[in-house]
Amino acid sequence: MELIETIAAFGKTLDAERLAGRRVGLVPTMGYLHEGHAALVRQAAAECDVVAVTIFVNPLQFAAGEDLSSYPRDLDGDRRTAEAAGAEYLFVPEVTEMYPGEVHTTVSVAGESDGLEGASRPSHFAGVATVVAKLFNIAGPSRAYFGEKDWQQLQVVRRMVDDLSFPIEVVGCPIVRDGDGVALSSRNVYLSTTERAAAPVLRRALMAGRDALSNGRSPADAAALMAELISAEPLAQLDYAEVVGDRLLVAARFGTTRLIDNMGADR
Ligand code: AMP
Repeated sequence: MELIETIAAFGKTLDAERLAGRRVGLVPTMGYLHEGHAALVRQAAAECDVVAVTIFVNPLQFAAGEDLSSYPRDLDGDRRTAEAAGAEYLFVPEVTEMYPGEVHTTVSVAGESDGLEGASRPSHFAGVATVVAKLFNIAGPSRAYFGEKDWQQLQVVRRMVDDLSFPIEVVGCPIVRDGDGVALSSRNVYLSTTERAAAPVLRRALMAGRDALSNGRSPADAAALMAELISAEPLAQLDYAEVVGDRLLVAARFGTTRLIDNMGADR
């Protein structure tokens, strides 16, 4: 696996791959890779000829007071994880490489960005859409892989790709969970032992909400039940519990760590 740090080198390398007739799979991440990221890379490797993983903690998608400066990093571990999962290239640009000056052009996806995460983090999805658009333009992938863990992000990216005619197939991949049901997240490393022990409440709430729906209860009832279960956990501070279409989604803070999770109504 080759480590690349400049936009020019990454673009040139993938140009050569495409010229040789190889389809590029792209897996954008913020690093501190875990088994959820590895699953995306493995699926990309199974479906594409070459896989490029990107690691970039994108300042544009963090608001003041969020965890930009403390976001966990482990480049050596990430190199091993990405390579073992089947990546050929690892693009790790500095912030000054991606944003050498002021950013005057951003991509905002109305509608899909509203509510849920968008309500709690107002400029977050514009930051995400902008960096994903940049990475798509730099890498020119045939397919790009995103986790359902960030369900709303996946909808935002799909909409951007449709609206702006990116010739890219967006592939959504299922949530990878720990043995106790907690969705894998780079941010789990921040949890104290007691917070980690409380975190499974999110999935339990989602399952209870899903069961309520399948028993004929209304989406509002299911959402209220999820909110009640999360609020009953002393270490969890509920942010939201909602049912949108056939998706149940929750977010809560455990101490200073904010976790999100979601589940399909029919699974
Ligand atoms: P992040 O590094 O947290 O920005 O995540 C990079 C990509 O990995 C995003 O598309 C996430 O949705 C995906 N991802 C993160 N955690 C998981 C997980 N537990 N299961 C599946 N995909 C995940």
